[in-house]
Amino acid sequence: MEVVRAESAGFCFGVEKAMEKAYRQIEKKAKDGDKIYTFGPLIHNEEVVKELKQKGVEVIDSVEELKEIKEGSVIIRSHGVSREIYHILEERGVECIDATCPFVKRIHKIVEKESEQGKKIIIIGNDGHPEVEGIKDWCHSPAIVIESKEDALNFTFEEGEKLCIVSQTTFNYNKFQELVEIFKKRGYDISVVNTICNATEERQTAARELAAKADVMIVIGGINSSNTRKLYEICKSECEDTHFIQTLDDLNLDLPKSVRLVGITAGASTPNNIIEEVQNYVRINF
Ligand code: SF4
Repeated sequence: MEVVRAESAGFCFGVEKAMEKAYRQIEKKAKDGDKIYTFGPLIHNEEVVKELKQKGVEVIDSVEELKEIKEGSVIIRSHGVSREIYHILEERGVECIDATCPFVKRIHKIVEKESEQGKKIIIIGNDGHPEVEGIKDWCHSPAIVIESKEDALNFTFEEGEKLCIVSQTTFNYNKFQELVEIFKKRGYDISVVNTICNATEERQTAARELAAKADVMIVIGGINSSNTRKLYEICKSECEDTHFIQTLDDLNLDLPKSVRLVGITAGASTPNNIIEEVQNYVRINF
């Protein structure tokens, strides 16, 4: 039996950078004793958040809590935030360690510019996701979030209205194209910017290709991680026997002798050591 890890599984560029910034700040803090916070969990991985907490990094969960901060530094995670958050940090005189991924920053700039020019912004993504919430706030007029075929079909617009479509960075590429097609067929005046980041596209393609060959697939990632959930959907559509786990403890495998290939992939917030642990476990035990 072969155990194969998908290419581009695990930490993406943006998450890696955010982790580096957090650890650099921890080292700095050790010298001057300042407090460190993250606005929301730095990444969707409980193990990593626990480790950071042990090193003194506290998670702030709401804007109200943020407004209470009087000192130290706040790390903005790779998802990015609304403009309001930057204003609050400035007002409070708190240091801002901005770990917003450059791919997300690019979307902020696009929607800011396009909405300023009068275009209605359509975000293809999951409403309520922190990245999408942040993007919405960079628009000069209310943006619309489209999540499904139904949303796209039900969308109505005013005569002559110009639209600009962007995507949440972690959206499923094929689904994005399918939704964009609906808008195109309806003859809207649209400009489409595919803002799905390469890391996501590459990870999804690699997962799909591996799942198509595998008898069993294991997808590792946080339960709240939207990119991991999407990886799971993709793998499940190619390989019926797909398992979604957070850590090795969740793995409940019973592999029949006929299994020849077990594929492993992981979301953007899954540290390498967790992937390796699962990989080694399957290799040794089956
Ligand atoms: Fe950046 Fe892409 Fe990673 Fe999101 S998934 S943090 S956009 S590299």
